[in-house]
Amino acid sequence: MSIDPAPEEALTIAAERFDAAGVRMTRGRRAVLGALFRAGGPVTVDELATLLDSEIPVSSLYRTLGVLVDAGVAVRVHERGGVARFEAAEDLAGHHHHLVCRVCGRVLDIPAVPDEDAELQRIVSAAARRAGFAVTGHHVDIEGVCSSCRAA
Ligand SMILES: [Zn+2]
Ligand SMILES: [Zn+2]
Repeated sequence: MSIDPAPEEALTIAAERFDAAGVRMTRGRRAVLGALFRAGGPVTVDELATLLDSEIPVSSLYRTLGVLVDAGVAVRVHERGGVARFEAAEDLAGHHHHLVCRVCGRVLDIPAVPDEDAELQRIVSAAARRAGFAVTGHHVDIEGVCSSCRAA
């Protein structure tokens, strides 16, 4: 996705969070986090391996992602058919929504546009209020067919 805050800044925040959790920022962890920032959407472990030119074996990718999730810098999202996807934590990557392709399963980030997002938040809050619910945030998944699958 479009990186906001800048990756360097986000990596600094991540490093601070690692310190707080007593976790060391290794080269591998930094590389995985960098790849999550560059990915353009939540990725599977296999997609992550490809992004990293298979430099890190899949088994250690699982371990590294577990460490990143525990330290609060990455999250597990969109588990479908037993396949989990991972992305950088939203407070590092910036508020965004997801386009979910029903054909190939890819998930693409779309950055939240402030004006649109305020309107979205208003609609979401109104719907939640009817259920007596106080909204603190939202995540939107837009389902459909991606441009590659539409062209196929
Ligand atoms: Zn698709
Ligand atoms: Zn939003």
